Amino acid sequence: TVSDAEWCYHDGEFVRVGDVRLSPATHALNYGTGVFEGIRAYWNAGRQTLQVLKLREHYERFEKSCRVLHIELPHTVDELCEITLEILRRNAPREDTYIRPLAYKSAESIGVKLELPASVSIFTAPMGNYVELTGLRCCVSSWRRVSDNAMPARAKLTGSYVNTALAVDAAHRAGYDEAIFLTHDGFVSEASAANIFLLRKGRLITPPVTADILEGITRDAVMELALEELGLETEERDVARTELYAADEVFLTGTGFQIAPVVEIDDRPVGSGEVGPVASRLQELYFRAARGEWEKYAGWTVPVELK
Ligand code: PMP
Repeated sequence: TVSDAEWCYHDGEFVRVGDVRLSPATHALNYGTGVFEGIRAYWNAGRQTLQVLKLREHYERFEKSCRVLHIELPHTVDELCEITLEILRRNAPREDTYIRPLAYKSAESIGVKLELPASVSIFTAPMGNYVELTGLRCCVSSWRRVSDNAMPARAKLTGSYVNTALAVDAAHRAGYDEAIFLTHDGFVSEASAANIFLLRKGRLITPPVTADILEGITRDAVMELALEELGLETEERDVARTELYAADEVFLTGTGFQIAPVVEIDDRPVGSGEVGPVASRLQELYFRAARGEWEKYAGWTVPVELK
């Protein structure tokens, strides 16, 4: 939950969350015409800093998502980074925190179109683990991933999260933790809010950027760690559904998910049915880098000193 008392940024000003009011006629609320980001800041107790992970990369993706909806941001990427740091300094959360930038068509008008003014908001909320990190049970969803020529997953559009909500809801009602999407062609795409990796015969594999995925920042980070620290090059290639059943390990990656091992898919154990050694090792390395505890990856995070 987001507290009304917290500072946020809204259309050029720092205001309290509770002071932002939206009309029910807001275009984005009616038609899903918004884009957003999800960024994490990890609390580093040793240094008494928040370490904001991949800040610039998230705003670069935000800008690209905005292009899809013809939203011209009133700020540069650098300015958006600075605004975000200022919100964190004001709220001073001494815990792991999620940052949500949002740009949306704010016109109070009826009619489906995109030539409309946009608003920009950025708010923060406490966030521990978004999912269990000790082994998820997944199903392949009967809902297909939105395709690039209908609702591009590459852009983080608010409206397309109806697709992921339908899949997660169906998975939960059937007793699973999470859903895995296939593309319209039947290849493995991604999970609801995470990319997917498989380990098969010692090779690390992930669906390509043409598989209707969001081009995950954690996905890139994991590929870097796998190559640099484990000597594992990632193959980006089409993945057939039954490769999920044949894999030795499967794990999901995302800002919220972090690195979440999958131990069961469609009621079949993944590999041994236990968290695998590669997922477990990558999880450990990722947290070290993300929390700003590893000099070699200092460039991944921006430290915020809290008063
Ligand atoms: N796919 C989808 C649909 C997502 O919402 C997310 C979360 N942003 C991801 C993948 C993972 O992306 P990232 O690693 O950049 O958080």
